Amino acid sequence: MVKKVLKFGGTSVGTIERIQHVANIIKKEHTAGNKVIAVVSAMAGKTNELVKLSNEISEEFNKRELDVLLSSGEQVTCALLSGALIKLNLKAKSWLNWQIPILTDGEHTNSRIINMHIEKINKFLDDKGIVIIPGFQGISKNGDVTTIGRGGSDATAVAVAKIFNADKCEIYTDVDGVYSTDPNKIPVAKKIDKISYDEMLELSSLGAKVMQPSAVQTAMMYDIPLEVRSTFTERKGTKIFSEENIDYSKSVTGVAYSKDDAKITITGVEDRPGVAANIFEPLSKAQINVDMVIQNISSDAKTTDITFTVKRDDIFKTKEILNKSNKIHYKDIIQNDKVAKVSIVGAGMVSTPGVTYRMFRALSDEKINILAISTSEIKLSVIIDESNILKAIKKLHTTFDLD
Ligand code: ASP
Ligand code: MG
Repeated sequence: MVKKVLKFGGTSVGTIERIQHVANIIKKEHTAGNKVIAVVSAMAGKTNELVKLSNEISEEFNKRELDVLLSSGEQVTCALLSGALIKLNLKAKSWLNWQIPILTDGEHTNSRIINMHIEKINKFLDDKGIVIIPGFQGISKNGDVTTIGRGGSDATAVAVAKIFNADKCEIYTDVDGVYSTDPNKIPVAKKIDKISYDEMLELSSLGAKVMQPSAVQTAMMYDIPLEVRSTFTERKGTKIFSEENIDYSKSVTGVAYSKDDAKITITGVEDRPGVAANIFEPLSKAQINVDMVIQNISSDAKTTDITFTVKRDDIFKTKEILNKSNKIHYKDIIQNDKVAKVSIVGAGMVSTPGVTYRMFRALSDEKINILAISTSEIKLSVIIDESNILKAIKKLHTTFDLD
């Protein structure tokens, strides 16, 4: 007998028909002899709707009350799903966060799950019951209802899998897995059967938004195998686990991209110790995330140019801070906010020489100019002109045998 955590996202439970469909998926698992704990999100759009309602009262709606409000979306789904299972003559029961309880730590709207009581739920599972748990929430030491950050149901599912010592954690969603690149842009994109936590994190933080990255991180920490799969097809999904489980026949697993980047070059800054720190310290204090940094060799040994990238939304603030700082002396600030980042990701890279030059050659064959480069053990990213992004993804996808 296998103990499984099945997590159903907002679109999977977006309508009554879909909830009934989910009930049938659970019924199949249960009939196959598995112990099932289902973790559910609010019906699609529900949480946003509740946020909007609170804004109508006040833009600074009380955070404690906001948590009470937002957590209600998942409660609705829990009851409807459990009711649908009971209608199918199954033994099912929903629990609210404080009835379990799911214990959390931290601030309202941004708490963290630290533990759960498992006895009564395990007893119910032993008695062949199906358990329904609300994602995205818990209860604080003071007994207040809390939520754990938007998109937090993935994190709940992983926490439940860990604390209940489940054998599997399956994330049911509206796509049938993780793809080698964006299938909406590149029709030849392929579904990846197996991927490591590290690769998944690189791909998801780069824009392949299938699962909440922090939930993947937790799964990696505790080595909880995940599977992302579609609620709407029977197809196998993508398995996410540690690298040892994967045979790397290819050097590159996927091509990711992000479009909302901007590049800033500061020319004529002094070439002496402390200058880079003076530039980036105030940016970090203002919560501006700097991604790539390049410093050119100074030709006159006195001044140099520093180029870096930030999110496009941050460009105005970045320039303002640089302008204001009296610790930084420079000639000019040049910005380019029409840039994009394209990355190849693959744990197979580590053992394959020549990946770097093949990427650069492929881009040059397409006459695509590289504006900045950064590398890590399993990732190679370049900044290019935004207008070239589709051409670049296509070419790299082909070059690394992903089509
Ligand atoms: N319902 C919550 C949200 O929309 C949590 C989730 O769906 O994961 O953010
Ligand atoms: Mg969600």
